[in-house]
Amino acid sequence: MSGPTGDRMIRVDMTNLTATTDPFPDEWKLLGGRALSAKILITECDPSCDPLGPDNVLVMAPGVMSGSSAPTSGRISIGGKSPLTGGIKEANAGGNPGQDLMRLGIRAVIVKGKAADPDKRYAVDITGDDITVKEVTDVKGMWNYALIDHLAKSYSDSASFVSIGPAGEQMLKGSSVACTDADQARRPARHAARGGLGAVMGSKGLKYVSIDAGKAKLRQPANRKDFAKFNKEATKGYLDGPQMFKTGTSSFVGIANMLNTFPYKNRIEGQSPDAQTLDGARIVESFETRGGGMHNCMTGCIVQCSNIVHDKDGNYKTSALEFETLTLLGANCAIQSWEDVADLDRLCDDVGLDTVETGAAIAILMESGGLEWGDAEGAKNLLQEIADGTELGKAIGNGADAIGKHTGNKRIPTVKGQAIPAWDPRPLKATGITYATSPMGADHTAGLIINPGLPPEEFARASQEIQLINCVTDSSGFCQFFGPTLDETRQYYGLLYGEEVTREQISAQGWQCLQDEWEFNKRAGFTAADDVMPECMKTDPIGPAKVVFDVPADVIASAYQRFEAREELYTTKPSG
Ligand code: SF4
Repeated sequence: MSGPTGDRMIRVDMTNLTATTDPFPDEWKLLGGRALSAKILITECDPSCDPLGPDNVLVMAPGVMSGSSAPTSGRISIGGKSPLTGGIKEANAGGNPGQDLMRLGIRAVIVKGKAADPDKRYAVDITGDDITVKEVTDVKGMWNYALIDHLAKSYSDSASFVSIGPAGEQMLKGSSVACTDADQARRPARHAARGGLGAVMGSKGLKYVSIDAGKAKLRQPANRKDFAKFNKEATKGYLDGPQMFKTGTSSFVGIANMLNTFPYKNRIEGQSPDAQTLDGARIVESFETRGGGMHNCMTGCIVQCSNIVHDKDGNYKTSALEFETLTLLGANCAIQSWEDVADLDRLCDDVGLDTVETGAAIAILMESGGLEWGDAEGAKNLLQEIADGTELGKAIGNGADAIGKHTGNKRIPTVKGQAIPAWDPRPLKATGITYATSPMGADHTAGLIINPGLPPEEFARASQEIQLINCVTDSSGFCQFFGPTLDETRQYYGLLYGEEVTREQISAQGWQCLQDEWEFNKRAGFTAADDVMPECMKTDPIGPAKVVFDVPADVIASAYQRFEAREELYTTKPSG
């Protein structure tokens, strides 16, 4: 078989502070990102291990197409056993680390063990032929932005970084892994946010990974001419289409509010009276007077959904301020202004936290009387408390379940310990099935269906199909917002490797990824009793129709039995 050759995997042993390389198995050539991470975890990680102990395995795996000239294809998956859910986790990020690793032919970085001295910090430097593990205790406790500014002085301009902030170093369960974006400033603004994988990285004593691909070339496809032609058609097809993400996901506030899935005050309502002041249109308007604008978070992205947000003085504040963040840290906390949410987003990125989990946790604290609804300054102070490691800061930083225990509040909107994202399972019941059955816990990127009118008999099938499609997309390196169908992804794989990839092969890959992940969770102790929506989603109605999540358990369970493939499986775009 032709196509990219000489691929390898890096193995980092944090106990002995060594790094080695293994050849990448040829039979895994079509595995990347999420599917590769799942395969490595089911093979090499004991599902019953302590997620913050030496036996957990942290995987950094770029997608199959990363490092190639295919548009919007350079994403990376961070995987491991989640300290938040206790199950398998994959969190996907843009930025350039995925592109750079694949240009070096590195299909995965597998980190095992744990540094002997918890007070020391380490980094892994990856260049063309050299991989070094070194002590960097001088950057201990640094926030992500300060860290990258500091590193920029000593690393080459071509290096990209994967890092954690103080939340990850404290092993807080809501902590994220930051990836630097494609801009010259290399901002740590792209986060593999969900599931607390920053805590796994922190538990190992690993503060950052640098990747310097230097002048390494893009991955060369086996069938260059046809690959280039297909690229041209795919790019034209996207640019001639509706370009739904042209002004970013923040523009979805209006439609979500209309559909009663813009949760307000810890999801007691589905609409916010502040939808106008939180709408992404306000951010777009600010570009004219303050600067900022839309950009691509990774090299080769033609979608450019990521906004760069400036403050009143025209200085950079944050990127990207997305719909999920405006919902969870805005409406859900009754915080009215998008500018306050921008401050909170920047703080979360800097401290190294998932904005969804943190927003859900702050809302629970507010509902419990620990902070006034809408108190933006109080919320910002809480972010500082998380960085400082106060008792309250730790409870918030450990996520929604933890602050629920801390406050005694029983309205905790989580599934498998992970906060429900913006898209609400009461009007969007098929999405609720995704939250209940996804190996990831409540995660809209695992399979979102924005169709409140979907007939009940279609709920389970629709959820299963989109979960499978999203598995393939998150394994390919393509961004969900570029959205190739299974047919398009398999054609790309075929041109990259010079042999046909069939519909059966590509759908089998998505299904196998789910099977591997479900099996991991089963071995970790999960049962059908964990596939339930929290009580508040079943009893607290929202919207004029007073909807609750009322999908019967047997319908939820049917998402595990594979439905016969129909044409739509291969022609539907991913959704997240
Ligand atoms: S579409 Fe948006 S999130 Fe996806 S790679 Fe491009 S800028 Fe990043």
